[in-house]
Amino acid sequence: MKAQFASKNDFNPDNWEFAGGIQHQNVSEDFQEYGEFIFEEMEAMFLQEQAANRSFKFFKIQEAKDLADPEGRYSLRGTCDHCGHAFNYGAVFKNKLDGKHLVLGNMCALNNCGLTGQQYTDKKMREIKKAAETKLANHLELERQRAANGGLTDAEVKQQKEEAEQIFTISHGRFPFGKHAGEAFEEAPRTYIDWIIKTEREKPTAVLTELVKALKPIFPEAFIDFPLPNGQCLKCEAGEKIEFEAFVSDKFSFEGHFGSTDVTKFILETGEILVHKGTRSFSCEVGEKVKIKATVKEFSEYNEIKQTMIIRPKRLA
Ligand SMILES: [Zn+2]
Repeated sequence: MKAQFASKNDFNPDNWEFAGGIQHQNVSEDFQEYGEFIFEEMEAMFLQEQAANRSFKFFKIQEAKDLADPEGRYSLRGTCDHCGHAFNYGAVFKNKLDGKHLVLGNMCALNNCGLTGQQYTDKKMREIKKAAETKLANHLELERQRAANGGLTDAEVKQQKEEAEQIFTISHGRFPFGKHAGEAFEEAPRTYIDWIIKTEREKPTAVLTELVKALKPIFPEAFIDFPLPNGQCLKCEAGEKIEFEAFVSDKFSFEGHFGSTDVTKFILETGEILVHKGTRSFSCEVGEKVKIKATVKEFSEYNEIKQTMIIRPKRLA
């Protein structure tokens, strides 16, 4: 038998780093008890340790044997590379200089390096087993559900039922969820319709897609792709008379000190935004393309987007 060290003193811990623990006891029992989940969790733990910048790994026995010196005691007989004693808990060390590995029994690791893998290994093993146990229980529970529900889990059955109910509600012209749940589509504010369309574009679900389809004939203007604002004012002077073609991009009114004010917003193909505020509503529909004659009043900014304010708009087409 080839001795790894002439004496215990030959093992200079400065040259070796602790790479992980190894447990001989119970590993095959654990595998029988938790199946592949035990290895899955060992792997997950290893990744966690790596993420935390620790090199601890829970070595599988064969893995440690493959790493260790093929002529060493661990590789040949599964005993401590240092003293040849059998052990249940061990520590795997990696040589910082040549990258070779040694597997020491726990007591040797403690005596030679002041380091015991056992406590850490025990703690980690408990965590691993607990996680594997939870996974196994979840797995068995899902299997049971699938067997009972013709291949679907309870959650999937519930989701299908919910979806069917929601689509039924949509087919009756009402919102199936959210702050306007149960209300008729027509009663919802445009901002809410816009939000639904945006959400469906970004994260479509079967129900949302169905909802958007149902909203389209009711709010056709919400589906128009307006030009993007270019952030610029119209290049002209205040007081100048202008003629322009633009989309009506928004229309609303608000109550102020002097009564009701109607606001109409236009956007040009080139992206400039024009705004009219008045006491009388300007006759047009959102989404319409209009031709207008107006006077430039002033230039302003709203929500960090520049806009050109107009007065006395007159529709030409
Ligand atoms: Zn030993």
